[in-house]
Amino acid sequence: MAADHRWAEDWDARKSGASCGMCDDMGSDNKAHGVRIFEGRWTDAYLGRFPVRTGYVYVIWKGRHVSEPTELSDKESAGFWAVKPR
Ligand SMILES: [Zn+2]
Repeated sequence: MAADHRWAEDWDARKSGASCGMCDDMGSDNKAHGVRIFEGRWTDAYLGRFPVRTGYVYVIWKGRHVSEPTELSDKESAGFWAVKPR
């Protein structure tokens, strides 16, 4: 039997930011999907509760909702990619 690979029913809402798990609870230390391990100017990082791989960390943009990094301005993109946790 083939796996079901259809998009979620609320895909358009997720992509538009109306229902985005990354933006929900922005700034929280303890989100549904992980625990914040880094707080930066441009991004926060969360150790995932349900990681793709052990130790997988989600880096979340702290500005407006975007679906892809290509939607960031040049300045925002420089800030996003320059994060260096200490
Ligand atoms: Zn979002």
